[in-house]
Amino acid sequence: MDIQHIASPEAGKDYPSNWNDFLDWFSSEDACSAYLERLRWPNGFVCRNCGVADEPYRSSRSRLMCRSWAYQGTVIAGTIFDKTRTPLRVWLAGAWYVTNQKQGVNALGLQRVLGLGSYQTAWTMLHRFRQAMVRPGRERLKGLVEVDETYVAITDRQAPTTTKKRKSNTDKVLVAIAVEMIEPKGFGRIRLQRIPDDSAASVIPFIQNCVEPDSVLHTDGSAAYRTLKELGYDHQRTVMLGAEQPAHVSMAGVHRVAALLQRWMLGTHHGAVQPTHLDAYLNEFVFRFNRRTSSSRGLLFYRLLQQAMQTAPYTYSDIIESSPKLPDKV
Ligand SMILES: [Zn+2]
Repeated sequence: MDIQHIASPEAGKDYPSNWNDFLDWFSSEDACSAYLERLRWPNGFVCRNCGVADEPYRSSRSRLMCRSWAYQGTVIAGTIFDKTRTPLRVWLAGAWYVTNQKQGVNALGLQRVLGLGSYQTAWTMLHRFRQAMVRPGRERLKGLVEVDETYVAITDRQAPTTTKKRKSNTDKVLVAIAVEMIEPKGFGRIRLQRIPDDSAASVIPFIQNCVEPDSVLHTDGSAAYRTLKELGYDHQRTVMLGAEQPAHVSMAGVHRVAALLQRWMLGTHHGAVQPTHLDAYLNEFVFRFNRRTSSSRGLLFYRLLQQAMQTAPYTYSDIIESSPKLPDKV
């Protein structure tokens, strides 16, 4: 299903207008489940096993049985909420808080505001939401697009060992940035991705993945971008070395986004992000940035949950698979 094709959602009808509304709407697990069911199947239940689209049998609100009797599952089976032991009310309150805080929230802040028993629960919740912040099949950027790389400073905090005190390593991690430029002034959408180095082998796939061919790409003079014309892009280079204009003037978009990204990392997350998880944080930053002009925070809540219901399960072990360390308190 293409979730783009759902008519524009309205406050008070498709999502709560404010926190009072929220409390009214989501007063029980059944109410939460019914809401998520509507987001998952806006045109009615479709069995994920046999594809039969027919009103399911219900043993309870959250337990649905396909008419062909071949499949029984919950509303949240196969989504990021799959097999959660956290009540849906807490998940929805978490989604509301995460989307209503303009700069987002770190795990400790979320644990406190939701009164969660463990830091790990809050941390995993945030990571599952970040997973849902990338919409599958999203469109590539187009028009005039600035592309550059920037170093982001992050602190990889190791848990204290018995012999040593807590150890912090500050890493500089390279991030590719693409920014749609709106003429005469302003920015459109962005894309970010961690890359291992600034070679053509790293930057060209990033560009092809996130910018439509025929777009006008604006880069610096790096040789890594030399093949862009052959790949169907209109390529404008600004050679920085000895250029009369400083970078924040000649590449205003990427310069601005890099500064905002670094500020967000330091402000909301205190710079403490494990390098293996950086892409998840970049997802969140892009989600927020690309919806920064949204008139309603409630709409972000709706979009996040809508995407969450279309995003495959993402468990604690998936998250830490690439990193054997346990999440550490920020
Ligand atoms: Zn079925």
